[in-house]
Amino acid sequence: MQTTTVSELFSILNQSSILIKKQRQIPYLEALSATGRYIYEDRIGEEGIKKELETLYAHFFHEGMTAEEIRRAFQLAILKGMKEAHLPNHELTPDSLVLLFGHIVSLLMNERPFSVLDPAVGTANLLTGIMNQAKAEDVAAYGADTDGLLLNLAVTNANLQQKDIHFFHQDGLKPLLIEPCDIVVCDVPVGIYPDKKTAETYELNEIGGKAYTHFLFIEQGIKALKDSGYLLYLIPNRLFSEDRERHFHRFIHRHAVILALLQLPLSLFKNQEAAKSVLLLQKKERETAQANQALLAEMPSFSNQEELRRFMRKMDDWFARRL
Ligand code: SAM
Repeated sequence: MQTTTVSELFSILNQSSILIKKQRQIPYLEALSATGRYIYEDRIGEEGIKKELETLYAHFFHEGMTAEEIRRAFQLAILKGMKEAHLPNHELTPDSLVLLFGHIVSLLMNERPFSVLDPAVGTANLLTGIMNQAKAEDVAAYGADTDGLLLNLAVTNANLQQKDIHFFHQDGLKPLLIEPCDIVVCDVPVGIYPDKKTAETYELNEIGGKAYTHFLFIEQGIKALKDSGYLLYLIPNRLFSEDRERHFHRFIHRHAVILALLQLPLSLFKNQEAAKSVLLLQKKERETAQANQALLAEMPSFSNQEELRRFMRKMDDWFARRL
């Protein structure tokens, strides 16, 4: 991957978004979404600054560039826009975790074609990152989100990377009109789910008397899987302490097998309360091979390259033995 290409692409997206933001007096993220659309549609809808934008966009697509470079550049621009907007619900899955998820999915599926759903897809940074690392050519991808602005960015992101993703602007906890998938991935939204009527359609709607969004998304993910399909989620560590009456524990036992639980380094998070882990489950069916032993591990700090490489080798060996 060329760092210069990523920074050149970011510079084009950034300069264009600043120009459009000024011209139309709109937030940076909306201007970024318009920028992406003008580039992939090859049609600029800004009369006053058309010439400047044309000159900028002339250098965007060039030979040898990759979708992953576009994802990284777009990710930098989204991060800039989110910082400016200060909206607490706008979050992006960090790059290190996108790479980790992509690596795990490519270990699980190898060269097999597969279908993948992200029921809280946000900007599709995670979903497109996984698709970019897939070894199979043929990936059917689906994403849902309630946030219109993030979903607009997701559509733009996917189009710029020439990724075919079916997006649904809807609550990811309501019924999803798709066939069962091979994999469900999600950086789950954490908190209390406000829609009582929908919550009542879930078994996990009363954990300690509350309907927590993060538990409901796990149940929804398992529902959306084919038998023996995989659920790969970023979950809050506190989920296990919230499950005092072990409803969740028993639910998982009935429907799935825990393959791995990787506790991420604390340095990635603001504090202990915000800390997260990667959870990998396989939906049960009679023939599901039971993992001899789940992979339970604490991941080393991502800045310790040596330790991280050692950990990844151990993880790859574990997958090679299991699959
Ligand atoms: N993986 C995403 C990315 O790469 O941009 C980031 C996901 S972000 C941590 C969580 C997402 O959950 C937000 O985009 C938010 O809008 C979405 N969300 C929250 N509640 C939701 C719901 N009920 N249905 C669908 N999406 C929801």
